[in-house]
Amino acid sequence: MLGKECFLCKKKLNIFSKYSKIDISQSNKEVPIGMTDEDDICRKCFGSSRETRKRFVSSGEIRKPVSLKWQSIFIFIPILALYAWLRIEKFWLGLGLHFLMYIPSIVIGIVIPFPWSVVVSIGVTSYASIYFVRKWSRQWNESISENS
Ligand SMILES: [Zn+2]
Repeated sequence: MLGKECFLCKKKLNIFSKYSKIDISQSNKEVPIGMTDEDDICRKCFGSSRETRKRFVSSGEIRKPVSLKWQSIFIFIPILALYAWLRIEKFWLGLGLHFLMYIPSIVIGIVIPFPWSVVVSIGVTSYASIYFVRKWSRQWNESISENS
């Protein structure tokens, strides 16, 4: 079986570090959906988390890097902001961040008089959004280049 690819990440398999369906079930891991007895997965996918493998199976494609510029734009557009978090797999963390930012906004509202409080809190939350979306998007892109 020369030139066989990993069932999940489609990378060329190393004959000495490939894992079959039996290997997976014997180590009490979840067998990827659609995997047959002829399929094998690489060491990286074998060791990867359930979530990582599920993603490969559901998307059927390799993870793509994101543009930091577009991520920074998306973060200011209501629905697209969620998309920006989703594509770097930080959906819940991103959503949590949006909720968490109410706290500084409330504090600013108490400390600074209206309307300056609005200006300052928009500034603070915008800065935080940009900071985190860029930081996590960069990490996302780095994690992809490490894998390939
Ligand atoms: Zn693999």
